Amino acid sequence: MPHGQWIVDEADLAPFMADESHVPGARPRAAARPTSPEDLRALVAWATAEGIGLVPRGTGTGKAGGCLARPQDIVVDLGAWPGAIEVNPRDLCLTAPASALLKDVKAAADAAGFFYPPDPNSWDQCAFGGTLATNAGGPNACKYGMTRHWVLAVEALLADGEIHHFGIASVKANAGPCMGQLLLGSEGIFGMILGATVRLAPKPIERLTLLLPVARFEELLELPGRLCAAGYLPCAFEFWDPAVLAELRAHGPEAARRMPGEALALLEFDDRGCTSEAFLDGLVAVLGDAAAELQAATDHRQREALWAIRRMTSVFLKERYPRKVSEDVVVPRSRLPEFFEGLQRLEIPCVTYGHLGDGNLHVNLLSAGELDAATLETKLMALFRLCVELGGTLSGEHGVGLAKREALIAFTPAADLAQFRALKAALDPRNIFNPGKVL
Ligand SMILES: Cc1cc2nc3c(=O)[nH]c(=O)nc-3n(C[C@H](O)[C@H](O)[C@H](O)COP(=O)(O)OP(=O)(O)OC[C@H]3O[C@@H](n4cnc5c(N)ncnc54)[C@H](O)[C@@H]3O)c2cc1C
Repeated sequence: MPHGQWIVDEADLAPFMADESHVPGARPRAAARPTSPEDLRALVAWATAEGIGLVPRGTGTGKAGGCLARPQDIVVDLGAWPGAIEVNPRDLCLTAPASALLKDVKAAADAAGFFYPPDPNSWDQCAFGGTLATNAGGPNACKYGMTRHWVLAVEALLADGEIHHFGIASVKANAGPCMGQLLLGSEGIFGMILGATVRLAPKPIERLTLLLPVARFEELLELPGRLCAAGYLPCAFEFWDPAVLAELRAHGPEAARRMPGEALALLEFDDRGCTSEAFLDGLVAVLGDAAAELQAATDHRQREALWAIRRMTSVFLKERYPRKVSEDVVVPRSRLPEFFEGLQRLEIPCVTYGHLGDGNLHVNLLSAGELDAATLETKLMALFRLCVELGGTLSGEHGVGLAKREALIAFTPAADLAQFRALKAALDPRNIFNPGKVL
């Protein structure tokens, strides 16, 4: 083994055997904590010579089993990778190492008077590098897009053992193909992301947060498309379906037991002027009858309370149903009504919540642990097929990892898969980076 920081004791390796997915993990051979280019060069040379897999890991909050290793692999924990978070106000950008926590990146932008929008609901736990490798998105994505829409430049370790810099600190850079974008969302199969420069936005100065209970779930499903068509683009449009609301009301924390409506949405706008009466009047006109029970959060405390319930939904379900399977399928927002009609026809016992504003739905099979593997597989494949047929796909944000590898292969045309594999072979000919994942 090359020099550097190593974790080899069985007990110390236990935390590397799981992430936040339902995929069971093995004990890796060891975990490395590189702190210099020399450490990385030596790791790549060793892995290449010995045929060992290098599995990058941020903070292990991933939901697809992507950072889990085979017993013969080495986990590369990037938590000790050096570097500071630096805001560059004149170029309206920020540079940070992969090891930084996303919450610190967002806080640094905020402290400098700017806004870094990517906001996975794990934002207070996950690593910046993990968000780049998974192209994370969250509630804000319906207005601000995913992580990749904010990345200007990427620093990455590739299979030659060297650190490469792709991109510059400007939104304009067309000299050659955009290698950095290829690495974003590639879940560590092309190389390891060591840091990035991301765009910043001016900080929104107003926020309007609304709770929208509806008497009929179907009423909600038309609204994301209707709002967009009328020129209202929320920076978040989250929802709870009747089944998940029933769970929360019956067994959730005190605040969740009072949630109104047959189904419920949490909407937020951050446009200049969004707190004016005129804005609200226009919005209510577009929402029509669905706005009958609309409630506005009047202060910061109320807004935080609403978001706390949204954030704890997945944590609550995971605690109550530890063996549940949580999917994050996506359909274009205009196809939401058809998706839910189709889901009903499939008769999959599930609860659904998530990001209605961009069609990214967390379909949770709470009793998945009681199903045999073949039945579960059949149900999931039927769910994925429904999405694909509606012009959607099988993951909106969590990625593929191990959890959805079979499904990705099943639903990707053979010719496209061959192109992905040709890319992998060109960039990582000895298959050392995260082997067995995604493709
Ligand atoms: C409660 C909860 C809520 C969540 N909500 C969201 C959400 O709203 N949106 C969303 O997108 N995700 C969400 N997630 C999933 C997850 O938190 C994100 O995908 C996050 O970006 C993963 O970061 P991480 O540091 O934990 O990565 P890890 O779990 O450590 O790794 C994830 C993948 O990226 C690879 N990887 C990690 N770091 C690097 C690197 N530096 N270079 C190359 N590859 C690397 C790993 O090999 C693995 O394949 C949620 C998770 C939880 C537990």
